[in-house]
Amino acid sequence: MIPKWIAEWIEKDRLVRNKYKISHKYVRSSKKIQKTHEEIDDKGNIISFTYMVLSSKYGKYWVKYNEGLYSCNCPFFKQRGICSHIFGVCQKNNIWPKKEKLFPTE
Ligand SMILES: [Zn+2]
Repeated sequence: MIPKWIAEWIEKDRLVRNKYKISHKYVRSSKKIQKTHEEIDDKGNIISFTYMVLSSKYGKYWVKYNEGLYSCNCPFFKQRGICSHIFGVCQKNNIWPKKEKLFPTE
């Protein structure tokens, strides 16, 4: 399930909305999103993981998750703090970023 605040954010921001739409194409072909690393604590909680997201058009990007925060090495991520690659990974594993980590000033 997509968290409410992310659904609202997607609705409000046209560029973010477009990225969310693009991410569906990664999810549809699961070979394009592959987990390459995962770190789990003693209790079975996920600490961090890394996915490789492959795009025939734009190449290969790395999506990293660490304690509630996602990052990606694509140019859009640097501007907005989110991107289609991250959305693709979120939809695949149903682990979404934490709001307070993404927008610490709010
Ligand atoms: Zn990206």
